[in-house]
Amino acid sequence: MNTILSGIQSSGKLHLGNYFGALRQHIQMQEEGDAFYFIANYHSLTSINDGEEIRQNTIDVALDYLALGLDPDKATFFVQSDVPQHAELAWILGTFCPVSLMEKGVAYKDKIQQGLKPNIGLFTYPILQAADILMYDADLVPVGKDQKQNIEICRDLAGKFNHNYGEELLKLPEPHILESVAVVPGIDGQKMSKSYDNTIGIFDEGKTLEKQVMSIQTDSTPLDEPKDPESCNVFALIKLFADEEKQNEIAQKYRDGGYGYGHAKKELLAMIEDYFAEARAKRKELAQDLDTVRDILSEGGKKARARAEKVMEPVREATGLLKSY
Ligand code: ATP
Ligand code: MG
Repeated sequence: MNTILSGIQSSGKLHLGNYFGALRQHIQMQEEGDAFYFIANYHSLTSINDGEEIRQNTIDVALDYLALGLDPDKATFFVQSDVPQHAELAWILGTFCPVSLMEKGVAYKDKIQQGLKPNIGLFTYPILQAADILMYDADLVPVGKDQKQNIEICRDLAGKFNHNYGEELLKLPEPHILESVAVVPGIDGQKMSKSYDNTIGIFDEGKTLEKQVMSIQTDSTPLDEPKDPESCNVFALIKLFADEEKQNEIAQKYRDGGYGYGHAKKELLAMIEDYFAEARAKRKELAQDLDTVRDILSEGGKKARARAEKVMEPVREATGLLKSY
């Protein structure tokens, strides 16, 4: 059985990019293998240094995942900081990582450009991500296309480590990327990202959701004129929700003219509301019982720690890190 590993940062509300690029696959894949899904709160410290905010985000992400269908009986669901071995292995891997490898990181450059502060945690983020993956001997890592380079870095570091100690101590993973939803655009047309402030939230409702959808950037082609669906951010999002027939129907309306971007946005809004209606109801229910959510995370953490030790014991042995207690 394949081991599947993926994480999501507790850096803000989950959005359509997270869902179509990652969560939807996580939920499908819990049926197919031994799945480990975690809330990446160590990673979120790279952009948020407010304890209360991180705590709240962690619970929010847990609620989101569970409401969308993550089943803790099928997948091990935990919080990263409940398994401090992630930080331990990251340190060890860092000693194998040439500075030049991190300097090539595109995610870091993107984030700096977006105004995030250039701290060392953000710079070496792919090393911690490599540790996350290697900790569970993961075969498959379902992620969005934005993460492809980080999986390559992970393979590179594991290869260097194994080569140095002459043993297959760490298992090289494969990415699992759904090309059709590779990068979901945000309301400004760039990659939708929590830290770019351009998201449409999975669990946003009413006016908040409407405002996000209505502010998707489009060009200024007048209502009457024909439009190109393929270059429209609204249509890119519609494609995620609509079946082929519906997509063709809307694309035709674009090409015919007389169909404005406002019309397309209203159709998209209705699709989002419909698609997530059930998950939204479930989330409200779960939010009434946070003790159960905490128990799920605590149980998941226990399982994950036990599993992590299976990799860490031989790693400590090979590296010569003495354990004297
Ligand atoms: P941050 O801005 O803090 O990096 P994020 O919104 O990019 O947050 P992550 O927690 O980094 O979200 O990513 C979680 C998962 O969602 C990853 O597997 C990532 O590939 C996927 N993902 C994030 N944004 C998109 C997007 N716009 N399109 C497709 N997949 C995405
Ligand atoms: Mg990201």
